[in-house]
Amino acid sequence: MTATTTTTGPEPSASPDLSKPVGDPPLLEVRNLTVTYGGTVPAVRGADLRVEAGQKLGIAGESGCGKSTLALALLRLLPATAKLTGEILLDGEDVLTMKWGRLRAVRWAGASIVFQGAMHSLNAVHRVGDQIAEPILLHNAKATPAAARRRAGELLEQVGLPAARAQAYPHELSGGQRQRVMIAMALACDPRLIIADEPTTALDVMIQAQILRLIEQLVADQDVGLIMISHDLAVLADTCDRLSVMYAGRVVEEGPARQVYAEARHPYGRALSAAFPRIGDLASRRAPRGLPGDPPDPAALPGGCTFHPRCPVALDSCATEDQELREAGGERRAACVLVDTPATDDSRNTA
Ligand code: ADP
Ligand code: MG
Repeated sequence: MTATTTTTGPEPSASPDLSKPVGDPPLLEVRNLTVTYGGTVPAVRGADLRVEAGQKLGIAGESGCGKSTLALALLRLLPATAKLTGEILLDGEDVLTMKWGRLRAVRWAGASIVFQGAMHSLNAVHRVGDQIAEPILLHNAKATPAAARRRAGELLEQVGLPAARAQAYPHELSGGQRQRVMIAMALACDPRLIIADEPTTALDVMIQAQILRLIEQLVADQDVGLIMISHDLAVLADTCDRLSVMYAGRVVEEGPARQVYAEARHPYGRALSAAFPRIGDLASRRAPRGLPGDPPDPAALPGGCTFHPRCPVALDSCATEDQELREAGGERRAACVLVDTPATDDSRNTA
């Protein structure tokens, strides 16, 4: 992978966060991050994110909007064809310019990822306890195999499984149990930030709720930061403090989670809210209601606002004028021209 930073430095973040403790860098600050696959596919376009210790940030958006690309970029886990620019400051240290050895130390221990679809990708021929022990041994030269196995048992108990399940092979566990194992692995090296990419999407609704409560509990107990990715805005609103909504590789809306869910300022945010009325609703498996079509292929983005071809309230100018994030009231920011035109506001609650 080639990781380059912008030579001129990023624009100062337009998102002043009043909660930032003076003098302390936030746990994670992403500035103007772009990811381009193969030189031509801009999957992430100028994303800014911020997570404080103990804070839970949700990233929402339909499939194809760049959420997983963003998550993997945070630890430089993308294929070599992906070119990254911008800054990814983890505790003030830029992941994009880290030497390989430092990067290896930061993975698992600084930040860890529960990968999308991970519960199907445990190694079938190894006992789950050994798989949890592996990162512990990798990251702690002093750890003995016996101590790492013991710790794996403790971690399993922490995620609600008996320590004895360490002896099980993945096929002997249910989907929910496998996802618990993946979460135990993510916790193995005491990371300060956990990135969970669609951690419950493949689970049935009862198990989904259990896993969400588990993640919430773990984050609260250990004061780690959480980035939770989902297409389901209702799940994120219920779990997270803040929300960023992504469309076509951009953050198009951000703000306090419940505000964004209850009264999104971007038509895309409103469409997502309308699609996911509440946690557990089977509608969460459907495409957003009242929003035909799909997000654009990043290799062929429409001009102007990339959402305009699907937008129920687009103006003529939206076909030609791109929109940046701007203040949208109540600590929210949205990248929509209508945010600035309150007169049109009342007529656009139809998304
Ligand atoms: P999401 O997680 O929101 O569904 P992804 O980050 O997986 O979105 O994908 C964003 C876009 O990047 C999609 O158009 C996808 O086809 C493209 N993409 C993802 N991975 C690669 C890759 N390795 N090479 C080229 N394009 C990719
Ligand atoms: Mg994804």
